[in-house]
Amino acid sequence: MKTLDTAQDRYARSHLVFEQAQQLMPGGVNSPVRAYKAVGRDPIVVRKGSGARVTDVDGNPYIDYVCGYGPLILGHTDDRVLAAVNKAASKGISFGMPTKAESTLAGMIIEAVASIERVRFVNSGTEATMSAIRLARAATRRDKVIKFTGCYHGHSDGLLVEAGSGATTLGVPSSPGVPSSVTQHTLLAPYNDEQAVGALFAQHADAVAAVIVEPIAGNMGCVLPREGFLQELRQLCDEHGAVLIFDEVMTGFRVAYGGAQLLYGVKPDLTCLGKVIGGGLPCAAYGGRADLMQQVSPQGPVYQAGTLSGNPLAMAAGIATLEALQEPGVYDVLEQAGAALVGGLEAGAIAAGVPVRCSHVGSMVCCFFTDAPVENYEQALRCDTGAFGAFFRGLLDRGVVIPPSQYETWFVSTAHDPGCIDQTIEAASQAFEVLAGH
Ligand SMILES: *Cc1c(COP(=O)(O)O)cnc(C)c1O
Repeated sequence: MKTLDTAQDRYARSHLVFEQAQQLMPGGVNSPVRAYKAVGRDPIVVRKGSGARVTDVDGNPYIDYVCGYGPLILGHTDDRVLAAVNKAASKGISFGMPTKAESTLAGMIIEAVASIERVRFVNSGTEATMSAIRLARAATRRDKVIKFTGCYHGHSDGLLVEAGSGATTLGVPSSPGVPSSVTQHTLLAPYNDEQAVGALFAQHADAVAAVIVEPIAGNMGCVLPREGFLQELRQLCDEHGAVLIFDEVMTGFRVAYGGAQLLYGVKPDLTCLGKVIGGGLPCAAYGGRADLMQQVSPQGPVYQAGTLSGNPLAMAAGIATLEALQEPGVYDVLEQAGAALVGGLEAGAIAAGVPVRCSHVGSMVCCFFTDAPVENYEQALRCDTGAFGAFFRGLLDRGVVIPPSQYETWFVSTAHDPGCIDQTIEAASQAFEVLAGH
């Protein structure tokens, strides 16, 4: 990628490592968005993280708003999480047999999330949504699933349709290799459009097993649910005997300890969790009403299993993270940091004359490069992704790393103190000025 000569030197080692990586792994990465394709340059290669910051292999420090794409709500190398993981590791790193830690974390989740009475741990959000849908189909004896364009629920076949996130960035709405015999059961509606959902229910009477939704959409940028939208989904599912699944893999324990369902006062039948509940280790879960969850194997016939599910290190990291989040005022601090960041970004953009629409819920933050409101995927796709790319590169050169796509959410952690936020706003203001050609 072409960059300034000085910048070239600054990122020399990252370029070298990434060049080698590309000979070894498809695109040099293990998850597509990491390759920076959408922002017109090679990725920085990370050496280490601490608190709100990461350092690349060239030694450049950055304030980090990727935060592992969501898990690191306490920032990097939090002492409490590290101590818990080290302690667990010293006692054995995997058993494939029950441990007490599984019950501890399960109990914490059930206590925190109002709609969850029973929970099953898995290893990734992809597994959680895939398994929740299998359960919903089994419980209703129906096949169809309604999902929303721009909502991402992992990369399982049936859900990889108009899926936002990395799929948007690459301009691949779905993917080759996904049989149409699978996706024919996936029905699509625009986000925030309950009327479209009502129409799908009418059209496919008694065939819809589930509605799956991100209660706050975080994989097409950050798009908030309009007032009443989630309530309408609850009502439609009740009317038609369908299972309402909240995919809270991103929002669970992030926007509130009880998740987005607490924030908006809507109770889903099943909830998917991930990211924060593993504190940065591979861990996810699905849970919900006991009468549904007891249909999962071995209590019931709906098969789902995992060699590493409930892994002791992941349980330890999750327990330590949730304990830290129980401290009074944590979510207020995250909200203040998110609000301060968004306020500063908006002020910087206005001063430079760059049209943006920022959104945030607590520590989920997004800056859309558009002058029109964004309430669904179609509107999100109208953003100026070229401007976003230039802004991204401007921030990177000024020591701030954000997710490398217009369609990802930035994550603030408890380690992002006011100094970090101010420094970010200063860097962003300069990047906006450069973008505007001042
Ligand atoms: C990240 C995410 C997933 C997928 O989780 P993985 O652990 O990457 O498989 C699913 N749903 C939502 C809402 C997510 O943000």
